[in-house]
Amino acid sequence: MFKPKVLLITGGMGFIGSNFIHHLLASKPEVHIINLDLGTYAAADINLEDLPDPARHTLIYGNIADRSLVDSILEKYNVNAIINFAAESHVDRSIDAPSEFIQTNIVGTFTLLEAARSFWQHKKQLGVADCRFYHISTDEIYGCRTDVEQPSFFENDPYDPHSPYAATKAASNHLVNAYYHTYNLPILISNCTNNYGPRQHTEKFIPKIIDACLNLQPIPIYGNGENIRDWLYVLDHCAAIELILESGFIGNEYNISAGNEVSNLQIVETVCGLMDLYVPKENKYRELIKFVPDRPGHDWRYSLNCSKLTHKLGWAPKINFVDGLNRTINFYLKAHNLQFEKSEVV
Ligand code: NAD
Repeated sequence: MFKPKVLLITGGMGFIGSNFIHHLLASKPEVHIINLDLGTYAAADINLEDLPDPARHTLIYGNIADRSLVDSILEKYNVNAIINFAAESHVDRSIDAPSEFIQTNIVGTFTLLEAARSFWQHKKQLGVADCRFYHISTDEIYGCRTDVEQPSFFENDPYDPHSPYAATKAASNHLVNAYYHTYNLPILISNCTNNYGPRQHTEKFIPKIIDACLNLQPIPIYGNGENIRDWLYVLDHCAAIELILESGFIGNEYNISAGNEVSNLQIVETVCGLMDLYVPKENKYRELIKFVPDRPGHDWRYSLNCSKLTHKLGWAPKINFVDGLNRTINFYLKAHNLQFEKSEVV
């Protein structure tokens, strides 16, 4: 079993990275976390409030594509594991302005790989390297299924990304795999389905619905709302990442999914129904739904098979969808200083 001692987490002010830092500080009392984050629009200071044992967390503002900064962090803190969460992550933004996606998701990952290779190779020569380079990726690398009968994607299915975001994530996966085959860098990759939960930016689908309800604004749904995504609660994702870091087989990719495929329209209706209970108004929130022209190249269905992770490492999601949505809505209500009666929780 691999034991991270000093862990460099990139993008730890964003949604999944910050949840992972909360999770790991609580579960691993011996680990020190260095958090390298550029502080883009997607980062939030509030995501790092109330950390368990904050003395074991060091935040450094900077760019993963800054080689000398990354070199100096690896050296100064004697990092023995890197988990790369940092990314430009919003598909719509990648369609409007792809260049930042190329810089961070491809060039940034390449820079981290080069820095890790150089630092750990030096350590290996000294006989002290037990290290991991873990890259966080997405189901979108495989492209999409076009009906519900088609099978879920396995790890050995070819990449077929459709959006600029997905293409940059697939490119970074290829680079990470290449560093394993070419330089023997001890890499791990996981490809996960859509996450939801606390600390997600309000530009993303579920927080956007909650925000629209709270502000009585239209809830936009692309096309006819029939596109399907598989939704995983973010803390289930964090538990999977911790397990893969410790016990994953070097050079392997793992799919992570919830087996919870839901159409966008169903999501909106479920969240609206919960909001009707928490913050009742005269009209039902579903009346705010507004269908808008479809996203260009909108993938129809994402679906991953995660039996490798389940059977080989023993992971399974623990939080069911309604429970996860309740937790998520409660988080955003608290963020808006809205109180609710416990009896209203379904
Ligand atoms: P996010 O947009 O919420 O956070 C990204 C973080 O990375 C931000 O804090 C941002 O400031 C930081 N960042 C961006 N560019 C940087 C740079 N050049 N250097 C350093 N930091 C930089 O993203 P997220 O939703 O937390 O996603 C995290 C990772 O998980 C991404 O790699 C994403 O592709 C992947 N992923 C996300 C989902 C999902 O549903 N959110 C699903 C599967 C995979």
